[in-house]
Amino acid sequence: MDFMSFDSHEIGASVSGLVHSVETCGTVDGPGIRYIVFLSGCSLRCKYCHNPDTSFVRRGNEMTAGEVLTDIERYAGFLKGSGGGVTLSGGDPLFQIEFSRAVLSGCKKMGLHTALDTSGALGAAADDDYLSLTDLVLLDIKAGVPATYRAATGGDLEPTLAFARRLAALGKKVWLRYVLVPALTDNDEDVRRVAEFAVGLGNVERVDVLPFHKIGAYKWKELGLKDPLAETPEPSGAAVARAKAIFTDAGFSCVK
Ligand code: SF4
Repeated sequence: MDFMSFDSHEIGASVSGLVHSVETCGTVDGPGIRYIVFLSGCSLRCKYCHNPDTSFVRRGNEMTAGEVLTDIERYAGFLKGSGGGVTLSGGDPLFQIEFSRAVLSGCKKMGLHTALDTSGALGAAADDDYLSLTDLVLLDIKAGVPATYRAATGGDLEPTLAFARRLAALGKKVWLRYVLVPALTDNDEDVRRVAEFAVGLGNVERVDVLPFHKIGAYKWKELGLKDPLAETPEPSGAAVARAKAIFTDAGFSCVK
């Protein structure tokens, strides 16, 4: 495909957005090798956010969708050959809905597989046209009890559940993600509610239980923010195994 074709209005070259960073060789955020675009901005304020510099303060480089797509195009053959594609992450890609729409649209024109990594909190902003440009949703459901969800994220659980139901009605593939945080989201009731809700949807291909980690802790310090989980340890192997068992018991066969 001709690079210059991305400068057309057709794919929204005039739509600009804030890009925090990109990763050209991701291996966990969707199938195959992924080109990952981390977009700035998020509506939630998770206590365990490992990208507060992306989500809370909206740091990033202003780029047009055409500029992003021109770079993606350099890797398109490699991505396709690996069975991979492009993942929009963040932050939350739904926070910059028109920018992410333009990037997704250009990716589909290149014949690339597309994935969204989102909490779904802003799912109502993604219309059916937007979702038709998305092959896979990596959906983070942060907790199954509304009070826990609010304590962990500052937001409401219901918009995410409504988005999950809508994805199911559309038959959209979902990989569910659950971040296990000691003394916050690791109680059986939260995990069980998410598992039982998700197994009933019928479109969740895989579940990833992600242990809370401290990798992003330094960013809170750099931003002058108090890290609310500074004293929280990473979960034990036994706790992770227990959460995975709850998903398996609910009926999931692919739990990682
Ligand atoms: S949804 Fe993700 S990006 Fe947004 S605050 Fe939570 S962990 Fe950070």
